[in-house]
Amino acid sequence: MPVTTQAYAAFSPDQPLSSWTFERRAPRADDVSIDILYCGVCHSDLHFARDDWGFSSYPVVPGHEIVGRVTSVGSDVSHYQVGDVVGVGCMVDSCRHCSACHDGLEQYCQEGFTMTYGSPDRHDQSLTQGGYSRHVVVSERFVVRMPEGIDLQGAAPILCAGITTYSPLRHHGVGPGHKVGVIGMGGLGHMGVKLARALGAEVTLFTRSEGKREEALAQGADHVVISTDEAQMEAVAGRFDFMLDTIPVQHDLNPYLNALGHDGTHILVGLLEPIDPPINAANLLMKRRVVAGSLIGGMAETQEVLEFCAKHDIACDVEMIKIDQINEAFERMEKGDVKYRFVIDMQASSPA
Ligand code: NDP
Repeated sequence: MPVTTQAYAAFSPDQPLSSWTFERRAPRADDVSIDILYCGVCHSDLHFARDDWGFSSYPVVPGHEIVGRVTSVGSDVSHYQVGDVVGVGCMVDSCRHCSACHDGLEQYCQEGFTMTYGSPDRHDQSLTQGGYSRHVVVSERFVVRMPEGIDLQGAAPILCAGITTYSPLRHHGVGPGHKVGVIGMGGLGHMGVKLARALGAEVTLFTRSEGKREEALAQGADHVVISTDEAQMEAVAGRFDFMLDTIPVQHDLNPYLNALGHDGTHILVGLLEPIDPPINAANLLMKRRVVAGSLIGGMAETQEVLEFCAKHDIACDVEMIKIDQINEAFERMEKGDVKYRFVIDMQASSPA
């Protein structure tokens, strides 16, 4: 039977989120039903609620950093049992047969993966809805297990902010001897700093915010560069092997490219729009530099980053909120005023 679910939803790009009660689809044989404990608040939730990317559908319940407890399992479920503490990230399905899916890269599914919210379900075409809600129903293939003893509040954002920064660092082989610049210290950026450091790299935070310096150093950055200070930017010209760019809006890449050495790679994870102002091609050619992109991470790698964080005692720095504080949280996130991830305590919240 469909499950009546209390949630907070966006109904249009220019209205605050408000409470909404809707029917979750009836669980299928391979589904896990989950009572949501915590849900992180990603900048993508804000982009989607405001239709910044032009493909939002309404009403939409955002939220794709979900931690919860299994309340029932379908007859075909073999990996999870009632009572297990599990996570759901940005994907809830994919075609499962293309080469990307076979390679554990479901996020690059050739038929397009099903987003946790705002995507048509592959079976019944109903719109998926996310974690700013009491319950969720997800195929076990897209569920991960929370490691024993991990701090669940601090771990929820690993399901997006963590995997999105871990995946490109791993893909590009970041490790000891590498100099990595992380650009922007929000949800993704502060995890980028911690993960790059744990992988053995020398880490520099590039931030507009002098006020984040001490915290960045405490979180594992070796150096901090104030990106709005031209002299500081010039002083680090040619120094870096990798830049991990988490800035959520259009910005000038050229000063950051200038900070890369020869064969350096600038990895975009924050921007989903055309690069503007344009890249000066000379900034690439003259040092054989590369501009790359990366999207979240596959299911196996999401489990891997959770284990990695548990092993290295890495958690997100979180500010806990109740669901009725979400509009204020969005406003503060837009101003870069969050240390460093809001996480909604769904059990302490009264969505409707
Ligand atoms: P946050 O808002 O938490 O952090 C972004 C940080 O970027 C800010 O704290 C700020 O850091 C910096 N920043 C913000 N605005 C500007 C600006 N105008 N100019 C320069 N720097 C700025 O966002 P998240 O970390 O949650 O997300 C970052 C981006 O990543 C979003 O666009 C999100 O949609 C995207 N994303 C991409 C994913 C992927 O798979 N590639 C997955 C998840 C999210 P500071 O004050 O230090 O300068």
